[in-house]
Amino acid sequence: MEKKTHVACANLVSLSLLQPKTVPELLITVGTSTIGALLPDVDLKDSTSDKIFDRLMTSLITIIIMSIIINYFFNINIYNKIKEYNNIYNYIICITIFIIMSYLGSKTSHRSFTHSFLGLFIYSIILSYSFSNKIVITYFISHLSHIILDLLNMKGIALFYPLKFRLSLKLCEVKGIVNKILFITSSLLNIIVLILISIK
Ligand SMILES: [Zn+2]
Repeated sequence: MEKKTHVACANLVSLSLLQPKTVPELLITVGTSTIGALLPDVDLKDSTSDKIFDRLMTSLITIIIMSIIINYFFNINIYNKIKEYNNIYNYIICITIFIIMSYLGSKTSHRSFTHSFLGLFIYSIILSYSFSNKIVITYFISHLSHIILDLLNMKGIALFYPLKFRLSLKLCEVKGIVNKILFITSSLLNIIVLILISIK
């Protein structure tokens, strides 16, 4: 499926199940669901997300080296300073591990680790370290929806990675008619769900 179809379907499932009640809740649900819908395809070698993760890793390594230099020359322990703010420290650790795992996922072959149950659980468990249950559930169902949609494609996915065999229901092509129908239907249903949530 195309990225826009993954995003539309994941948002539909997340909004229908979680029914956010406030605007911040709505933004968090849509944001998390979009990340969950797109993350599995970091393993596309020429994808934009692949380049983004390469840059994120470079930035991360630069920050770590800079903090070691500051600690060494100026005797300022940045980690201890951040640790004083427990919540922020947990978020930083969690997001850093998530970025590193996404980067490693981007280096695996297409539709293997990030499209498997193993990947789904690892990414969700990492987020559960510091994010709320609602965010973790939103991420989990969005990532799962991506896996289910890709199962419909002709090309199989390594659902039980590290086992190498690939599963496929062979029902449609990535940019075929099923993809188009799913995108249009889920986009329209998203609008209906949003209207229903707002008038509740
Ligand atoms: Zn995919």
